Amino acid sequence: MENEFLKGKKILIVEDDLSSRLYLNKILEKAGVDILNAGDGQEAVNVALNTPDLDLILMDIQLPVMDGYSALNKIREARKDIIIIAQTAYGLLGDKEKILNSGFNDYVIKPILSQNLIDKLIINLSRK
Ligand SMILES: [Mg+2]
Repeated sequence: MENEFLKGKKILIVEDDLSSRLYLNKILEKAGVDILNAGDGQEAVNVALNTPDLDLILMDIQLPVMDGYSALNKIREARKDIIIIAQTAYGLLGDKEKILNSGFNDYVIKPILSQNLIDKLIINLSRK
């Protein structure tokens, strides 16, 4: 369902697994989000630094070429303000702490449920 708040927001999905990427694209597309995609950490950095009006990044942690933590650091060097949400397969407490201490604004745990993701995006974009 189209979401009044998310409609037209520009969000970068960083995900190397194709089926996960398609799934996330489907959820955000339905909400009316303006979507960009990257399949590895380096591509994520490139897109983030070349898209000044980007609103949010949904970043996988385990990525080829450059992992999510390194990509976050590179992006933060240039863009302190951008909202970056980690998506992680690990539901462990230690990882949650590491993610938040690393400078991510928030995280979602895989498997990602559609409504949870929408709620997280709205909460984080509202804080901006
Ligand atoms: Mg991955």
